[in-house]
Amino acid sequence: MNHQRRYIILAAPSGSGKTTVAKYILQNYPQVQFSISSTTRSIRQNEVDGKDYYFLTREQFLEKIEKQEVVEYEEIYGNYYGTMKDELQRLEQNNIIILFDIDVLGALNLSKIFLTSAVLLYIAPPSLEVLEQRLRLRSTETEEQIQKRLSRAKMELTFQNQFDYVVVNDSLEQTLSKVKEIIEKEFSFQ
Ligand code: ADP
Ligand code: 5GP
Repeated sequence: MNHQRRYIILAAPSGSGKTTVAKYILQNYPQVQFSISSTTRSIRQNEVDGKDYYFLTREQFLEKIEKQEVVEYEEIYGNYYGTMKDELQRLEQNNIIILFDIDVLGALNLSKIFLTSAVLLYIAPPSLEVLEQRLRLRSTETEEQIQKRLSRAKMELTFQNQFDYVVVNDSLEQTLSKVKEIIEKEFSFQ
């Protein structure tokens, strides 16, 4: 393993396939562990508190910001999402690679902290039309939430050039193969 690299920061507009890619990495590389973010959004049917996210109330989240217990956070689609210091400390105790699945602005903020020890990977949708289709097919958001995600996606797409790698998630098979190539190049797994 290349000891200079310790973090994989995965970002993408919502619906581009970031969670799908994160799951692939976690299933295939036991050396990688997921940084569990905290959020004030409501839990989805297939999610587990403490595994997918730590689900907090707005008051709990604001208290953490006030106590400076937050490494980075963003308000996205009307909810707070953030990486907590205690989560990062828990993971950093182990000699592992830490994977973040966060929004584009959060990713750029983390990269200012981790500098060259992080690999920044952007998963882009083939087009806004395909992104919309995928959000609809996923059926986890209301129409209003889908519109908010699409509107934010337009802003997020402008930041691609600040990432180390951009993978356009058209065919999932090809995407996962490119992700594999990048990870094995950057981390020199045996
Ligand atoms: P994100 O975490 O970026 O919001 P997801 O991983 O949840 O995105 O993907 C959004 C939806 O699109 C999911 O239903 C997922 O199964 C599907 N999906 C992901 N990648 C592809 C792909 N390459 N082709 C078609 N559907 C995809
Ligand atoms: P979702 O509601 O679809 O799970 O996530 C919405 C957006 O919030 C996604 O882009 C996701 O990556 C992002 N996100 C999740 N956790 C964090 C975090 O800790 N910090 C930031 N900045 N964004 C996050």
